[in-house]
Amino acid sequence: MGVIVSKFGGSSVADGIQLAKLKKIIEDESDRKYVIVSAPGRRFDQDNKVTDLLYLCKAHIDHNVDYRQIFQVVCDRFLALKMNLGIDIDLEKEFAEIDKNMQNNASEDYIASRGEYLTALVVAAYLGYDFVDTAGLICFDERGKLLDEETDRRLANEILKHDRAVIPGFYGSKPDRSIKTFSRGGSDITGSLVAKAVKADVYENWTDVSGFLVADPRIVKNPEQIDMVSYKELRELSYMGASVLHEDAIYPVRAGNIPINIRNTNAPAHPGTLIVSDTSKKADDKIITGIAGSKDFVVIAIYKNMMSAETGFVRRCLSILEDYGIPVEHLPSSIDTISIVLSKKKINGKLEDILEEMQRRLAPDSLDVYQDMALIATVGRGMNRRRGVSARLFTALYKAGINIRMIDQGSSEMNIIVGVENIDFENAVRAIYDTFFETEEDQWAGFPAEFDEGIKNRLDA
Ligand code: ASP
Repeated sequence: MGVIVSKFGGSSVADGIQLAKLKKIIEDESDRKYVIVSAPGRRFDQDNKVTDLLYLCKAHIDHNVDYRQIFQVVCDRFLALKMNLGIDIDLEKEFAEIDKNMQNNASEDYIASRGEYLTALVVAAYLGYDFVDTAGLICFDERGKLLDEETDRRLANEILKHDRAVIPGFYGSKPDRSIKTFSRGGSDITGSLVAKAVKADVYENWTDVSGFLVADPRIVKNPEQIDMVSYKELRELSYMGASVLHEDAIYPVRAGNIPINIRNTNAPAHPGTLIVSDTSKKADDKIITGIAGSKDFVVIAIYKNMMSAETGFVRRCLSILEDYGIPVEHLPSSIDTISIVLSKKKINGKLEDILEEMQRRLAPDSLDVYQDMALIATVGRGMNRRRGVSARLFTALYKAGINIRMIDQGSSEMNIIVGVENIDFENAVRAIYDTFFETEEDQWAGFPAEFDEGIKNRLDA
């Protein structure tokens, strides 16, 4: 018998109907022993997430405005769950305790965490599983940094005492036992930590989509589904804007070599997307796994004759940005030029000052700035063993009339990043998608026919 850790997101615990689906999923597979829950999310478009309402309670308390009406909405949602599920649980006692703490100046993290806490109590009663609180098990230091090893030890120690348990997501505690939450969406991290601690065979992440799509469905119509993706690829894709899973949720399970399976509570028969370690043999049947990107980057292109012979040039360049606290997103370079790609948002109005400083400290021959650039990452673990991938990509962009302003291929040869103007972004994503996913040829075909033709003609000439 194996062990599966199953995390259910906000939409999967939003109401009694969703919780009935959750129960069916758990009962269908007896290995699903440990269940992590988020707080109830939206049931319909205009609805509120319980966590948002709890943050709102805190904001009211801080401004000396009556919070009770909002807190009542939260309580009512849990009472409705209790009634719909027909469970026997003393919620009033819990509400009274939370209310008392709120009146006694409870912290924002404590208040926000109560959504997960109450949900876990309800789901534990509904499934007949034990409830295991994460306060005292998921450990942060005084400054709020997660203590991985201590957490792993404590979680394993406690959870393995229970044959089956429901565990609240999103929070742990500091040494003084005060509650500390992860950043928003952090129940994914709790699930990952638990999966690692109990050495699960798989970490299931149940949500409202059947896994990852190859490209953003707002740009590409009905994009294909990603069946399998490696952790590294996922990191590249989520860095560039694809998101389903909290970024920090990857590290614990990755360290434990545990696959993550993204599944859809509303379509439980769908196998979803499997996220596997890079060494997995199963992980190399595709060239291109996904396409992701985002707009609004700024590129500073620095040219200086004999730059490559000058020691410390790049360091000085980067130290200017460090002084301004601005992270560098990419750094493509050639012999005497270096391009620094920055996020427009993170530059935060400091561009003029940075340029002045660069002029002064680097004395470049030229310093050009390109604003309103978009970056698109085409990611695929199979591309390093395949000729013609970039040729195919660049041909597709050329045919779509898109001017490529920058190219950056990571040394892992797992992605090709192109910079285009913001206005070309959507068309570029579509062109790349079409060439790798919509053509008759399969991805392994490599060079498009006309390329082989062109090369042959040249060789013949
Ligand atoms: N309930 C929290 C949030 O809305 C955490 C989570 O759902 O993962 O961000």
